[in-house]
Amino acid sequence: MRIQQVSTFSADDNYNIIIDCFNTMAAELASVETLRTDIIANVSHEMKTPLAVMQNYGTLLQAPDLPEEKRVEYAKAITDASRRLADMMTNILKLNRLENQQIYPNLTTFDLGEQLCESLLQYESVWERKNVEIETDIADGVNVCADTELLSLVWNNLFSNAFKFTEDGGKVMLTLTADEEYATVKIADTGCGMSAEVGAHIFEKFYQGDTSHATQGNGLGLALVKRVVDIMQGEIGVESAVGVGTTFTVKIRRVDDGPEEAR
Ligand code: ADP
Repeated sequence: MRIQQVSTFSADDNYNIIIDCFNTMAAELASVETLRTDIIANVSHEMKTPLAVMQNYGTLLQAPDLPEEKRVEYAKAITDASRRLADMMTNILKLNRLENQQIYPNLTTFDLGEQLCESLLQYESVWERKNVEIETDIADGVNVCADTELLSLVWNNLFSNAFKFTEDGGKVMLTLTADEEYATVKIADTGCGMSAEVGAHIFEKFYQGDTSHATQGNGLGLALVKRVVDIMQGEIGVESAVGVGTTFTVKIRRVDDGPEEAR
């Protein structure tokens, strides 16, 4: 819907401003509606794959005289698919709560270097299995006043991607530096990297640039990361080159000014 501007009288300037406002409002409402429809379409699509896997393997499991090894394989496929479904629902709920501002940051002062190490250590079995080298350079005593739970969501997603998109024998690097005002975290990898076209969309919900790893995620991780960084009044940037690697840089304020909506 678009309302035509009438400019017969110069005194109509105010009228035209109102028309402009209406047109902007109509465009915004239309885009919110499109976004909502897109999300429903995406969620339904993403749910279909694991559900189909569960149905197929469930049927196979019913075959009589199934060898033990097949029974274990099919049961595992069902468990994996249901875990993916559960992860996706958890991410959707988190994103929904973050977007609807139902989460108010719970601020405490803590050592950011320690939190980063804890998050990195969760991937020890992955880096050992993939023989990925780890390099860290973490400044001592960098305290930040932030929401630990929300921030760990950021590091977990960035590390999870770094290990996922890095081939066996690659390298993942973590750096923490700080000045009075900001703490800067860099999580870099020597993985597959991404093109500028992919890089332009990575923070969008359900966007997956690298389809070869599509089943290992749902395209919600970086949308969550971006939302948390915004709530924390921080900044996130990415530098990447195809076949060379990717570096995510997150800058967060060391002292929080309070939640977004209070400003
Ligand atoms: P998912 O990992 O579930 O696909 P994300 O939202 O975490 O979703 O990431 C979106 C996309 O960004 C990925 O599909 C991938 O194309 C790209 N991406 C993210 N991190 C990296 C990385 N470290 N190296 C290469 N590509 C990445």
